[in-house]
Amino acid sequence: MAFLVKFWGTRGSIPTPSHSTRRFGGNTPCVEVKVDDTLIICDGGSGLRELGVDLGQRDGGAPVHGHFFFSHAHWDHIQGFPFFMPVYSPRNTFTVYGTEEEDDRFFRLLSGQMSSEYFPVAFSDLGAKVEPASLEKQGSEIGGVLVRAFPQTHPGGSFAYSFESGGKKVVYATDHEYDLDLLNREASLENPDLVRVLGPDFIEFIRGADLLISDSQYLDEEYPSRVGWGHPRATTAVDIAVQAGVKQLALFHHDPMHSDAVVLHKEKLCRERLAVLGGSTVVFAAREGMALRLDH
Ligand SMILES: [Zn+2]
Ligand SMILES: [Zn+2]
Repeated sequence: MAFLVKFWGTRGSIPTPSHSTRRFGGNTPCVEVKVDDTLIICDGGSGLRELGVDLGQRDGGAPVHGHFFFSHAHWDHIQGFPFFMPVYSPRNTFTVYGTEEEDDRFFRLLSGQMSSEYFPVAFSDLGAKVEPASLEKQGSEIGGVLVRAFPQTHPGGSFAYSFESGGKKVVYATDHEYDLDLLNREASLENPDLVRVLGPDFIEFIRGADLLISDSQYLDEEYPSRVGWGHPRATTAVDIAVQAGVKQLALFHHDPMHSDAVVLHKEKLCRERLAVLGGSTVVFAAREGMALRLDH
């Protein structure tokens, strides 16, 4: 069994094509999770466009069935969908999941973005079969993958998703301001060196993950002026990963103001924090085009 993860967009908020972002990439969130023949797509930021080009070239252009999980419908997470070429082919099928029973919210929001004021092609004119579906409360089995959702702290709300198969677990958790949920929030803001402790619910959700793809937008010194904007200190993601026994932590949703040099600096600061905490998690900054294989 093969469990593959590929990053097609790692940038937060807005695409940032620039010489200064070439290394980590400028496309907004899109992550492919492939478990054998089951294709899962996390978010449809501008990175989704390139995944579409790639899918069109795979297996001699064989029909595609993709399962979409959206963290939320902020623009940076859906803007690639109208430019996702496979959705124009009648040979393909896409399922767009809601997080509760009878929940077609993301399906409706995607079609809203394609109303004629915003885009020339209507959602109803897409060639592919695009259908809504919803997760059951305790999670659903989709193509041999157990998928569960968890509500996160973000303006307007957002969801993390956990994907488990064959004893491997990947969690996609972006746009989540952990710092607002810390049990020792005030103390940790005044003293960033304190270990930051999150309550048990999210920790249990990510417990033992082989890979946690986590919102890690801000440097410690940036965060105090951005409290409530919906994103955490990158170093808080490290504390949480260690607390939950996560094996690999991918720093994700890079700030649009961060050049490659700043993202590298953020990665270094996170590794230093890991060393202070004595954790064994492998920490790295997610880079557009990076592919990981979680072997069974
Ligand atoms: Zn975002
Ligand atoms: Zn957002």
